[in-house]
Amino acid sequence: MAYTLTQKLASLKPYEPIQGNYDIRLDANESFFNLPKSIKEEIGKEVTNLAFNRYPDPYAKNAVKAFSEFYGLNEKNVTAGNGSDELISVITSCFLKSGNNVVTLSPDFSMYAFYGDLYELNNYIYDKADNFTVNIDDLIAYCNNNKADMLIFSNPCNPSSLGLTKKEVIKLLNNVSCLVVLDEAYMDFWNESLLDKTEDYDNLIILKTCSKALGLAGIRFGFAIAGDTITNALKAAKSPYNTDMISQKIIEVVLSHKKELSDNLKQIILNNQELLKGINALNNKYNCFEKVYDSKTNFVFIKTDKCDYIFEKFLENSIAIRKFKGFLRISTGSKQENIKVLDTLEKIIKDMK
Ligand SMILES: *Cc1c(COP(=O)(O)O)cnc(C)c1O
Repeated sequence: MAYTLTQKLASLKPYEPIQGNYDIRLDANESFFNLPKSIKEEIGKEVTNLAFNRYPDPYAKNAVKAFSEFYGLNEKNVTAGNGSDELISVITSCFLKSGNNVVTLSPDFSMYAFYGDLYELNNYIYDKADNFTVNIDDLIAYCNNNKADMLIFSNPCNPSSLGLTKKEVIKLLNNVSCLVVLDEAYMDFWNESLLDKTEDYDNLIILKTCSKALGLAGIRFGFAIAGDTITNALKAAKSPYNTDMISQKIIEVVLSHKKELSDNLKQIILNNQELLKGINALNNKYNCFEKVYDSKTNFVFIKTDKCDYIFEKFLENSIAIRKFKGFLRISTGSKQENIKVLDTLEKIIKDMK
């Protein structure tokens, strides 16, 4: 035998999202808005003119420009990635040394600890309180006591859908001495962003994805925003042609339609409030869940010991949601989808009684 998998690799399993066709997909926090035909046609025309035989721009300059304009950022602080997932991978593998300490929170986005393990770092997992709020002084002490080299977390959090205020995150930044990777994948749905602060800290990286509020999960694109030193290092460490020409063009076109995007965003936020209200109303009526969390995102998080049953019943009704151990996460859908979800949920609850 010439090669045996390392133990670490042998125990890994490929990522498997829910398979199968469901009428309503509310399992991955995607936007329920597809692009309108007019924008798709505009993309089609632009793509026709591309030189497919040439390598893409390694720094995705036009996409970075469109993104920077959209969020009011300085282009020099922005690095494009093949989804924020790639950026998390590059940061975790290149900005730390083997044996370094990474602090992640639990519950939080599972990829953080996954990459920490993959790159043989020491994962320190900070367990959130029972209600999943985070005491910032506590987290600061945890990072310092464990000599963290990097802290990475999502704000607002996937899956809890709760968030830390700007003031709290600034306090954190001022009191830890490690790299802080702040994943603002869902911050479009809330209002406590630190995007305007990346030049004030030499240890801060903010991640943004195009997969959620911008409705572009199907193309792989994310951005890292940081000060000059980190940005230069990130650009040097990533693979040269990490984003492709077609996706770059799509970002450029879609982000130029600011009105469309902000209208969609407003609608998603509104629908999420409606979904949360509807689920809370069901909980008040039937007292069926242990807890329905407040939501600063485009999904609702529920604590219930009936999660397996409810999840399966939803699938039987051709609705896919996300199940965790003891919890359910339901992404916001269109008005009609949310009505269907609430109707279905009420039927499921009644059957349970
Ligand atoms: C969905 C999500 C992302 C998005 O990752 P992409 O690779 O850009 O699709 C990043 N962080 C969090 C916390 C998410 O929930």
